[in-house]
Amino acid sequence: MAKPIDYRLAREKMVKKQLAPRGIKDPRVLEVMGKVHRDRFVEEALVGEAYNDHPLPIGHRQTISQPYIVALMTEALELKGEENTLEIGTGSGYQTAILAELSEKVYTIERVRPLLVKARNMLAELGYNNIMFKAFDGTLGWKEYEPYDAIMVTAGAPKIPQPLLDQLAEDGRLVIPVGNKFSQELIKVTRKKGNYVQENLGGCRFVDLVGVHGWKD
Ligand code: SAH
Repeated sequence: MAKPIDYRLAREKMVKKQLAPRGIKDPRVLEVMGKVHRDRFVEEALVGEAYNDHPLPIGHRQTISQPYIVALMTEALELKGEENTLEIGTGSGYQTAILAELSEKVYTIERVRPLLVKARNMLAELGYNNIMFKAFDGTLGWKEYEPYDAIMVTAGAPKIPQPLLDQLAEDGRLVIPVGNKFSQELIKVTRKKGNYVQENLGGCRFVDLVGVHGWKD
Protein backbone atom coordinates (compact mmCIF):
# COMPACT_ATOMS: atom_id res chain seq x y z
CA MET A 1 0.00 0.00 0.00
CA ALA A 2 1.19 3.51 -0.77
CA LYS A 3 2.49 5.51 2.17
CA PRO A 4 -0.05 8.15 3.28
CA ILE A 5 0.98 11.73 2.51
CA ASP A 6 2.07 13.82 5.49
CA TYR A 7 0.17 17.03 4.67
CA ARG A 8 1.41 18.89 7.72
CA LEU A 9 4.97 18.34 6.58
CA ALA A 10 4.03 19.26 3.00
CA ARG A 11 2.61 22.59 4.24
CA GLU A 12 5.69 23.29 6.31
CA LYS A 13 7.94 22.63 3.31
CA MET A 14 5.76 24.80 1.09
CA VAL A 15 6.14 27.75 3.50
CA LYS A 16 9.90 27.21 3.90
CA LYS A 17 10.78 26.57 0.25
CA GLN A 18 8.20 28.43 -1.84
CA LEU A 19 7.02 31.39 0.24
CA ALA A 20 9.65 32.66 2.69
CA PRO A 21 12.61 32.57 0.21
CA ARG A 22 10.58 34.59 -2.34
CA GLY A 23 9.97 37.36 0.13
CA ILE A 24 6.64 36.64 1.83
CA LYS A 25 7.21 38.19 5.25
CA ASP A 26 3.86 38.84 7.00
CA PRO A 27 3.94 36.31 9.88
CA ARG A 28 0.14 36.01 9.85
CA VAL A 29 0.15 35.10 6.16
CA LEU A 30 2.92 32.52 6.63
CA GLU A 31 1.05 31.08 9.60
CA VAL A 32 -2.27 30.58 7.80
CA MET A 33 -0.53 29.19 4.70
CA GLY A 34 1.00 26.62 7.05
CA LYS A 35 -2.37 25.90 8.61
CA VAL A 36 -5.10 25.76 5.92
CA HIS A 37 -5.53 22.30 4.35
CA ARG A 38 -4.99 23.06 0.66
CA ASP A 39 -5.34 19.31 -0.08
CA ARG A 40 -9.07 19.58 0.77
CA PHE A 41 -9.61 22.06 -2.07
CA VAL A 42 -8.13 20.03 -4.95
CA GLU A 43 -9.58 17.09 -6.84
CA GLU A 44 -9.05 13.67 -5.25
CA ALA A 45 -6.78 12.52 -8.07
CA LEU A 46 -4.47 15.51 -7.56
CA VAL A 47 -4.04 15.53 -3.77
CA GLY A 48 -0.47 14.34 -4.17
CA GLU A 49 0.29 17.63 -5.94
CA ALA A 50 -1.71 19.89 -3.61
CA TYR A 51 1.35 21.59 -2.11
CA ASN A 52 3.42 21.75 -5.30
CA ASP A 53 4.71 25.03 -6.69
CA HIS A 54 2.08 25.48 -9.45
CA PRO A 55 -1.66 25.96 -10.05
CA LEU A 56 -3.92 22.91 -10.50
CA PRO A 57 -7.12 22.36 -12.51
CA ILE A 58 -10.39 22.42 -10.50
CA GLY A 59 -12.82 21.71 -13.37
CA HIS A 60 -14.91 24.06 -15.53
CA ARG A 61 -11.64 25.22 -17.19
CA GLN A 62 -10.62 26.99 -13.97
CA THR A 63 -7.63 26.58 -11.64
CA ILE A 64 -6.64 26.85 -7.98
CA SER A 65 -3.82 29.43 -7.84
CA GLN A 66 -0.19 28.59 -7.08
CA PRO A 67 0.54 28.82 -3.32
CA TYR A 68 3.07 31.65 -3.80
CA ILE A 69 0.55 33.77 -5.72
CA VAL A 70 -2.08 33.19 -3.00
CA ALA A 71 0.43 34.32 -0.37
CA LEU A 72 1.63 37.31 -2.41
CA MET A 73 -1.88 38.61 -3.08
CA THR A 74 -2.96 38.02 0.52
CA GLU A 75 0.06 39.84 1.91
CA ALA A 76 -0.68 42.82 -0.36
CA LEU A 77 -4.08 43.25 1.32
CA GLU A 78 -2.36 43.97 4.69
CA LEU A 79 -5.11 42.24 6.67
CA LYS A 80 -5.19 42.77 10.42
CA GLY A 81 -8.30 40.78 11.25
CA GLU A 82 -10.97 43.49 11.31
CA GLU A 83 -11.61 43.79 7.59
CA ASN A 84 -14.68 43.49 5.48
CA THR A 85 -13.11 41.64 2.56
CA LEU A 86 -14.53 41.06 -0.93
CA GLU A 87 -13.21 38.24 -3.13
CA ILE A 88 -14.05 37.87 -6.82
CA GLY A 89 -13.54 34.32 -8.16
CA THR A 90 -14.20 31.84 -5.33
CA GLY A 91 -13.03 28.91 -7.47
CA SER A 92 -11.97 26.08 -5.16
CA GLY A 93 -12.53 28.20 -2.05
CA TYR A 94 -8.89 27.83 -0.91
CA GLN A 95 -8.08 31.54 -1.17
CA THR A 96 -11.44 32.23 0.51
CA ALA A 97 -10.34 30.16 3.53
CA ILE A 98 -7.06 32.08 3.76
CA LEU A 99 -8.98 35.39 3.65
CA ALA A 100 -11.54 34.16 6.21
CA GLU A 101 -8.71 33.33 8.62
CA LEU A 102 -7.35 36.87 8.36
CA SER A 103 -10.51 39.03 8.02
CA GLU A 104 -13.57 39.72 10.10
CA LYS A 105 -15.92 38.87 7.27
CA VAL A 106 -15.47 37.65 3.69
CA TYR A 107 -17.90 38.20 0.81
CA THR A 108 -17.04 35.95 -2.11
CA ILE A 109 -18.51 35.90 -5.61
CA GLU A 110 -18.20 33.16 -8.25
CA ARG A 111 -19.88 33.08 -11.67
CA VAL A 112 -19.71 29.27 -12.10
CA ARG A 113 -22.40 28.01 -9.74
CA PRO A 114 -21.19 24.38 -9.34
CA LEU A 115 -17.77 25.67 -8.22
CA LEU A 116 -19.44 28.01 -5.73
CA VAL A 117 -21.57 25.19 -4.29
CA LYS A 118 -18.59 22.89 -3.92
CA ALA A 119 -16.47 25.58 -2.27
CA ARG A 120 -19.32 26.56 0.05
CA ASN A 121 -19.79 22.94 1.19
CA MET A 122 -16.09 22.45 1.86
CA LEU A 123 -15.73 25.73 3.75
CA ALA A 124 -18.78 24.84 5.89
CA GLU A 125 -17.33 21.39 6.56
CA LEU A 126 -14.08 23.02 7.72
CA GLY A 127 -16.07 25.20 10.12
CA TYR A 128 -15.83 28.68 8.56
CA ASN A 129 -18.81 30.81 9.57
CA ASN A 130 -17.72 34.30 8.50
CA ILE A 131 -18.14 33.88 4.74
CA MET A 132 -21.04 35.02 2.52
CA PHE A 133 -21.38 33.51 -0.95
CA LYS A 134 -22.96 34.76 -4.15
CA ALA A 135 -23.25 33.24 -7.64
CA PHE A 136 -22.98 36.36 -9.78
CA ASP A 137 -20.79 38.54 -12.01
CA GLY A 138 -18.20 39.84 -9.57
CA THR A 139 -17.05 42.64 -11.90
CA LEU A 140 -20.12 44.49 -10.60
CA GLY A 141 -18.97 44.06 -7.00
CA TRP A 142 -21.44 43.44 -4.16
CA LYS A 143 -23.21 46.72 -3.52
CA GLU A 144 -25.14 45.61 -0.45
CA TYR A 145 -22.12 45.32 1.88
CA GLU A 146 -19.79 48.03 0.58
CA PRO A 147 -17.42 49.63 1.37
CA TYR A 148 -14.72 46.95 1.55
CA ASP A 149 -11.41 47.38 3.37
CA ALA A 150 -9.87 44.80 1.08
CA ILE A 151 -10.80 43.45 -2.37
CA MET A 152 -9.09 40.55 -4.15
CA VAL A 153 -9.76 39.54 -7.75
CA THR A 154 -8.39 36.10 -8.63
CA ALA A 155 -9.01 36.21 -12.39
CA GLY A 156 -7.27 38.30 -15.06
CA ALA A 157 -8.99 41.54 -16.12
CA PRO A 158 -8.53 43.75 -19.22
CA LYS A 159 -8.86 46.78 -16.89
CA ILE A 160 -9.82 47.43 -13.27
CA PRO A 161 -13.64 47.22 -13.00
CA GLN A 162 -14.96 50.65 -11.96
CA PRO A 163 -17.56 49.22 -9.50
CA LEU A 164 -14.73 47.64 -7.48
CA LEU A 165 -12.92 50.99 -7.21
CA ASP A 166 -16.20 52.60 -6.16
CA GLN A 167 -16.80 49.96 -3.47
CA LEU A 168 -13.31 50.25 -1.95
CA ALA A 169 -13.21 51.97 1.48
CA GLU A 170 -10.96 54.95 2.22
CA ASP A 171 -7.46 53.47 2.90
CA GLY A 172 -8.75 50.20 1.41
CA ARG A 173 -6.55 47.90 -0.72
CA LEU A 174 -7.48 46.13 -3.96
CA VAL A 175 -5.32 43.49 -5.72
CA ILE A 176 -6.09 42.42 -9.26
CA PRO A 177 -4.24 40.91 -12.24
CA VAL A 178 -4.57 43.28 -15.22
CA GLY A 179 -3.39 42.64 -18.78
CA ASN A 180 -4.24 40.61 -21.87
CA LYS A 181 -5.53 37.04 -21.95
CA PHE A 182 -2.04 35.51 -21.84
CA SER A 183 -0.21 37.50 -19.21
CA GLN A 184 -1.01 40.13 -16.64
CA GLU A 185 0.61 42.40 -14.06
CA LEU A 186 -0.51 42.09 -10.49
CA ILE A 187 -1.76 45.56 -9.55
CA LYS A 188 -2.30 46.82 -6.02
CA VAL A 189 -4.53 49.86 -5.64
CA THR A 190 -4.80 51.84 -2.40
CA ARG A 191 -7.55 54.41 -1.98
CA LYS A 192 -6.04 57.49 -0.36
CA LYS A 193 -8.13 60.61 0.24
CA GLY A 194 -10.25 59.84 -2.78
CA ASN A 195 -7.21 59.11 -4.99
CA TYR A 196 -6.26 55.67 -6.22
CA VAL A 197 -2.55 54.94 -5.81
CA GLN A 198 -1.28 52.08 -7.99
CA GLU A 199 1.64 49.74 -7.48
CA ASN A 200 2.86 46.92 -9.75
CA LEU A 201 3.68 43.70 -7.89
CA GLY A 202 4.98 41.83 -10.95
CA GLY A 203 3.94 39.51 -13.76
CA CYS A 204 1.45 36.67 -13.41
CA ARG A 205 -0.94 34.50 -15.40
CA PHE A 206 -4.59 33.96 -14.47
CA VAL A 207 -7.74 32.59 -16.09
CA ASP A 208 -10.10 35.22 -17.57
CA LEU A 209 -12.30 37.50 -15.51
CA VAL A 210 -15.52 37.23 -17.50
CA GLY A 211 -18.26 39.80 -17.05
CA VAL A 212 -19.74 43.20 -17.76
CA HIS A 213 -16.48 44.94 -16.71
CA GLY A 214 -14.24 42.03 -17.73
CA TRP A 215 -13.75 39.88 -20.83
CA LYS A 216 -16.78 38.96 -22.93
CA ASP A 217 -17.90 35.33 -22.57
N1 SAH B 1 -9.11 31.82 -5.88
C1 SAH B 1 -9.46 30.68 -6.69
C2 SAH B 1 -9.11 30.96 -8.12
C3 SAH B 1 -10.04 30.33 -9.06
S1 SAH B 1 -9.72 30.74 -10.75
C4 SAH B 1 -8.74 29.45 -6.21
O1 SAH B 1 -7.57 29.59 -5.81
O2 SAH B 1 -9.29 28.36 -6.25
C5 SAH B 1 -10.70 32.19 -10.97
C6 SAH B 1 -12.17 32.04 -10.75
O3 SAH B 1 -12.78 33.26 -11.11
C7 SAH B 1 -12.84 30.97 -11.58
O4 SAH B 1 -13.49 30.07 -10.75
C8 SAH B 1 -13.83 31.75 -12.46
O5 SAH B 1 -15.03 31.07 -12.70
C9 SAH B 1 -14.06 32.98 -11.61
N2 SAH B 1 -14.57 34.15 -12.33
C10 SAH B 1 -14.22 34.62 -13.54
N3 SAH B 1 -14.90 35.75 -13.85
C11 SAH B 1 -15.71 36.00 -12.77
C12 SAH B 1 -16.65 37.03 -12.46
N4 SAH B 1 -16.92 38.02 -13.31
N5 SAH B 1 -17.29 36.97 -11.29
C13 SAH B 1 -17.04 35.97 -10.40
N6 SAH B 1 -16.16 34.97 -10.63
C14 SAH B 1 -15.50 35.00 -11.81
